[in-house]
Amino acid sequence: MKQSKLLIPTKKENPSDAEALSHIMMERAGYIYQISAGVWAYLPLAYRVIRKVKGIIQEEMEKAGAYEMETPSMLPADLWRQTGRYEAYGDTLYKFKDHNDREYILGPTDEEAMTEILRDSVKSYKKLPLVVYQITDKFRNEPRPRYGVLRGKEFSMLDAYSFAADEEGLDEAYQAQAKAYHNIFDRAGLHYKVILADSGTIGGDNSQEFSAPAEIGEDVIVYTDGGYAANLEKATAKFDAVQQTAEPGKLEKKATPGAHTVDEACASLGVDQGQMIKSMLYMAKMGEDDYQPVMVLMRGNDEVNETKVENALDCEELELASEEDTVKYLGAHPGSLGPVGVGEDVKILADNYVKVLVNMACGANDDGHHYVNANIDRDFRVDQFGDFRNVQEGEIAPDGYPIKFTNGIEIGHIFKLGTGYSKKLGAQVLDKNGRLVDMIMGCYGIGVTRMLSAVAEQNADENGLVWPDSIAPFDVHVIPVNAKKDEQMAMANELEQQLTAAGYEVLVDDRKERAGVKFADSDLIGIPLRVTVGKKAADGIVEVKIRKTGETLEVKQEELVNTVG
Ligand code: ATP
Ligand code: MG
Ligand code: MG
Ligand code: MG
Repeated sequence: MKQSKLLIPTKKENPSDAEALSHIMMERAGYIYQISAGVWAYLPLAYRVIRKVKGIIQEEMEKAGAYEMETPSMLPADLWRQTGRYEAYGDTLYKFKDHNDREYILGPTDEEAMTEILRDSVKSYKKLPLVVYQITDKFRNEPRPRYGVLRGKEFSMLDAYSFAADEEGLDEAYQAQAKAYHNIFDRAGLHYKVILADSGTIGGDNSQEFSAPAEIGEDVIVYTDGGYAANLEKATAKFDAVQQTAEPGKLEKKATPGAHTVDEACASLGVDQGQMIKSMLYMAKMGEDDYQPVMVLMRGNDEVNETKVENALDCEELELASEEDTVKYLGAHPGSLGPVGVGEDVKILADNYVKVLVNMACGANDDGHHYVNANIDRDFRVDQFGDFRNVQEGEIAPDGYPIKFTNGIEIGHIFKLGTGYSKKLGAQVLDKNGRLVDMIMGCYGIGVTRMLSAVAEQNADENGLVWPDSIAPFDVHVIPVNAKKDEQMAMANELEQQLTAAGYEVLVDDRKERAGVKFADSDLIGIPLRVTVGKKAADGIVEVKIRKTGETLEVKQEELVNTVG
């Protein structure tokens, strides 16, 4: 393929609004173009990388016995009302109407549609476990899209859904997906950790995140060399939030009464409300000396279910204040701790006391299904919750090894969902004994476009991108130093033919640009191997340069294919 014909708008300058290395380099190297905040076009080079990532995913999903399909992005709002997620997702959803005033959303994830389809298509356990998947664009009105395609409003996601008639079936599907995720990330050349998505200290085995360590990552991972790894609930937001609002005082004296609404705090920190709530819930149990405990409480607009909330506050598990625990003990549904309707001020009390004042409008539907109806306004001692020590770096963990911290980018998430969705949508099958049972579900997601950011974060250098062989847009970049010289262009064309015939993907920089410009662009674009055709072309010799290491060697034309291999 000839570079003169390919749309690669490289830039010399860093984009002014870019903080992340991956964002800077993908934009400068002409991979991505921002149409509007968080909405990106994938130019030919990025498109080729995405195609390769998808190819790897498709192969691994097939090996795991999962088959591809596609559901529409445009989904009826009523379907989402049936599970309560229309309300729970709130402003994160893109909502619109058709000519007949029928309401729709753009899917941010797809449990509802998949469950409806399976409900109507599968009637017997004999067909289960069954795993379906798709790779489609998802839409989320992220309050702060950033870091290029790492956090977009529209992004490509692999989402798989498993349906089983019993726990064994669920487990089988979950394990197969987990294995596929390992293979996918390994093949894409990513370094990653599998972390318990539950909490910093303990975690269930029913939800795991795959997180790619990187400075820019928004998740804080607590890990040990003994193999323990878990998510420390958005610690950055946590500390920042508390620093902004905390002030010592005495019980019942509000340090900053009414001073910071959650909205304001979120806006100033650039975090979404879900993150903020999780951070605060977590903060509440830490009792860190420098920070006053803060907690926000959830208050629904609908009827109050005090009992559930009381149970939740009393139960040990809520110490963790993870999404799963909250889901479990408040009867919320997964995803409901996304942006929620928080309207109350954050109240801060002194010493070991916290004032709980959360206002959470989540999951209400017309036929009375499923609410989080927290409406509590009371003080209690933090130590009522038990041990609130913060996890410290260097402290000896559960497994006998010292605790370490790193930032990570969430690249994938696997989740045993249970029967929440099937119950709400009536997805049942006949089991072995001829009884109707709810299908037991799992869901699994990978950020396909985010993977590009993660790979770039881990591999790029100051000169540009460095792609692993498996997902590079091309295998070899052939550069005739002076494209006006016929013998150089002739040799470049020959090399292109030879390498292509040997199964490699080749980009030839046939542009009549200065050598310096071509080399700089080549480094930016980051194709694994560069073959320079220069003065020695007359003697049949070219120079091969490995992008990753900078190593160079001279090779005879006839030996090139072997060398590349
Ligand atoms: P995050 O914590 O980063 O907001 P999430 O937990 O909301 O992600 P999931 O609902 O678990 O995301 O979606 C599955 C995967 O989709 C994530 O693991 C991530 O790789 C990817 N993803 C989620 N949100 C975005 C986004 N705004 N832009 C790009 N990829 C995303
Ligand atoms: Mg999110
Ligand atoms: Mg997440
Ligand atoms: Mg997730």
